[in-house]
Amino acid sequence: MINIHRYEVVENEHLYGPGKRLLLFTQGCSLRCNGCTNQHLWEFGKGVDATTDEILNQCNDMDGITLHGGEPLDQANALIELIRELKRQGKTVVLFTGYIFKELNKVQKEAWLSSDIVISGRYEERKRNIYLQFRGSTNQKVFTHKGKYKDYKIKDGQTVAILSFNEQGEMQSRGFRTDELEQLLNEISKDNK
Ligand code: SF4
Repeated sequence: MINIHRYEVVENEHLYGPGKRLLLFTQGCSLRCNGCTNQHLWEFGKGVDATTDEILNQCNDMDGITLHGGEPLDQANALIELIRELKRQGKTVVLFTGYIFKELNKVQKEAWLSSDIVISGRYEERKRNIYLQFRGSTNQKVFTHKGKYKDYKIKDGQTVAILSFNEQGEMQSRGFRTDELEQLLNEISKDNK
């Protein structure tokens, strides 16, 4: 079983990788970086359990999956069958992990090496940069070491934030918020009070 926070379909290359993808947020992270914006995903076991088949079924008409967290590699033993099957089906895997390669065990290394794009490294608040593709801080690295995206060119120098409203009418944002956007959101929130 894979303990997940949620999944959704995304098409935003700058944030999540090329094409139409299933974005899967795993629940639980042992790394706990200062300034992490996903702290609600730190606690283990707080999400819902999903089987490999359930997630595979959601990937039928997708280019691939994007594994986000939480920390996906903290559940590498549960995720590896999913990754193997997706690769058998010719789909791509984009892996966001706070680990670096030398920290990994055997299964985690397999997950890493099977992924088409890996974004690696802890989030470091003092190295925050909102104009990087995929990464939140300049120490993080992107590996496009094999497969379909081996010649993929990272497009730094721009930033993306996605704003949406939930069923209660509350505004939610993801991606990278510039100071101007922060200010605009504060004004909107004041107007709504
Ligand atoms: S590894 Fe990712 S989810 Fe975990 S604390 Fe760091 S930034 Fe947050």
